[in-house]
Amino acid sequence: MEKNEKKQSGMENIRNVRVIAFDADDTLWVNEPMFRRVEQECLEMLGGYADPASIRAQLFAVEQKNIQFFGYGVKGFILSLLETALAVGRGRVSHIDLQRIMDYGQQMLAAPVVLLDGIEGVLEALCLQYRLMVITKGDLVDQESKMTRSNLVPFFDHVEILSEKDEAAYNRVLRKHGIAAHEFMMVGNSLRSDILPVVNIGATAVHVPFETTWEHEDVCLSAIDPSEWVTLSTLAELPDFLCSPKVWDHGEKRPKQADPVAMDCPFQAY
Ligand SMILES: [Mg+2]
Repeated sequence: MEKNEKKQSGMENIRNVRVIAFDADDTLWVNEPMFRRVEQECLEMLGGYADPASIRAQLFAVEQKNIQFFGYGVKGFILSLLETALAVGRGRVSHIDLQRIMDYGQQMLAAPVVLLDGIEGVLEALCLQYRLMVITKGDLVDQESKMTRSNLVPFFDHVEILSEKDEAAYNRVLRKHGIAAHEFMMVGNSLRSDILPVVNIGATAVHVPFETTWEHEDVCLSAIDPSEWVTLSTLAELPDFLCSPKVWDHGEKRPKQADPVAMDCPFQAY
């Protein structure tokens, strides 16, 4: 009974949503595959010093340690790769290979922004009815550059680039813009950054998984009440979901059979 009541409450929250915030990396545009490609290149480059699995594990540990110093993004990743290369090579990695790692960083920062399929159409449909925001974490210069190069800026009322996306950060953003938690929906690919803290502050969260996710962004699903968030297969499903949220079941990627009672669209509400 309590679980059913929470589900009903979640549906009510969706009816009240006035502001939709989108994560950027791997929600609006492709990001993680580039990190994995560079990681793979470096693992092969350093293969003479240790086996790839142990280098990858060491890199992940270095990245976790370095988040507190460098934050998220390409620059922290490259510094962590250099630190890992120096450690596994015990000083024997050539300056040419170290330069290659530096070059990878510059290539990543200059890489074209590749939007995920259908993003512009979704934003075009939603921006007329909702206040739209971007809430992303990472390097300020890189995220600003990608935002500008994406040509998506006109769709958004606000763009927030944060050093971390936790409960305190979301509460600060909502306070800054005068948004109540029950009016706020976050959409993103990361359970750790886009779903868990949003659910914990009483807002609505929509998970749109991407093909590849950095393991740092994973959390145990049991840490999140399954009645408080929903998973969609693609962002293109979001407008239909907002029109008929009861059609979707929480935690499922496929819509259940349509419920005609739920078909009045909240788009008219704003
Ligand atoms: Mg993301």
